[in-house]
Amino acid sequence: MISQFNIPSTVIAGAGASRELTPQLRRRGLDRVLLVTDRFMVGSGLAPRIVAELSAAGIFTEVFDDVQPDPSVDNVLAGLDLLRAARSQAVVALGGGSPIDCAKVIAILSTNHGPMEQFMGRDKVPNAGLPLFAIPTTAGTGSEVTKVAVITDTRRDVKMMMLDSHLLPAVALVDFELTLSMPPALTAAVGVDTLTHGIEAYVSKLATPLTDPPALSCIRLVGENLECAWREPTNRAAREGMMLAATQGGMAFANSSVALVHGMSRPIGALFHVPHGVSNAMLLPAVTRFSMPGAVARYATVARTLGWSRVMESDEAAAMVLVDGLEALNVRLQISPLRAHPKIEAARFRASLDKMAADALASGSPQNNPVVPTFDQIVALYQQAW
Ligand code: NAD
Repeated sequence: MISQFNIPSTVIAGAGASRELTPQLRRRGLDRVLLVTDRFMVGSGLAPRIVAELSAAGIFTEVFDDVQPDPSVDNVLAGLDLLRAARSQAVVALGGGSPIDCAKVIAILSTNHGPMEQFMGRDKVPNAGLPLFAIPTTAGTGSEVTKVAVITDTRRDVKMMMLDSHLLPAVALVDFELTLSMPPALTAAVGVDTLTHGIEAYVSKLATPLTDPPALSCIRLVGENLECAWREPTNRAAREGMMLAATQGGMAFANSSVALVHGMSRPIGALFHVPHGVSNAMLLPAVTRFSMPGAVARYATVARTLGWSRVMESDEAAAMVLVDGLEALNVRLQISPLRAHPKIEAARFRASLDKMAADALASGSPQNNPVVPTFDQIVALYQQAW
């Protein structure tokens, strides 16, 4: 089997890595950039710090800070207008997956023409975009190293997934110190997103010998660090462990794939605006129980890698431990089930089941699952997770 593995050509990780931005731009001769971020990053002082560093080095920076969580088509187009008006030569993304994904699509739209839907799916972007420098501030999506972007089409209530190596950042600056400000609820949501990346990359039908090692390392690091980072937000070792987990999870899933959890999670995000990591966490136990017969040995390895199952336990027993452990993890991290989420109204959820199942299947992700579900099985899984 031939397998392809794409990551940014430069990944700089460790405390203070974000301060490498100026030298990285300088060595490429870039002196006009668009900084894509959100209002929190401006208010927290982090975006102004970066603008000040760049301006001290003579790099002109235009700021687009209007990215909303789950960025929309309109967010991307507004950023693109600013990029063109400022004649930027490169894009810098600062924030969680939302600003990074928005920046990726702004960067490719600067050199590719046509409606954004045209780039949805795999390998649909003809030309490389402007160079992108990604600085993540949540330890979750791994978007800083992935060739994936997710943009919400609010007119159709669909999260559009694009996967193409032209979406890869040129440079990822992975600085765990930027995550020390995350409150526990955000740490939990993005942390379970990371775990879902590791698990789905590992059990996917598209897993390869190159994606298994980062997937397992991601899972191990989450087992060792997530609950500590949630309890003690300023614990540097735990934050560093989660940041590395997120980046490795991104390397793994973007070159293997995500699967049924992500396929079912995106429609919940598009319709109910539940944070991406939270909707993943709510689905993960039920989808794992459903998928287990297709990859018992792999799910058992996940349980052992998390430290939840003893080596001597049979694969079947270890895989069952995983399902129970994922349910218990949600309880410990105070992630409530779908029915208890304030943004999900029961009648609208029931009325949306067919659309959600159809959109999940149309995304292609369920087809990579160890057990490929039918439309009716997806509807039943939404009902079980409720
Ligand atoms: P996010 O970027 O939407 O941010 C969530 C909230 O956290 C925002 O209010 C933000 O301002 C705040 N925040 C960010 N960093 C913070 C910090 N250090 N301290 C305090 N608050 C902080 O959240 P996310 O989970 O990182 O990204 C979710 C998006 O990423 C979704 O749209 C999802 O579909 C997408 N995604 C993309 C990929 C990919 O590979 N491209 C993978 C998974 C998910």
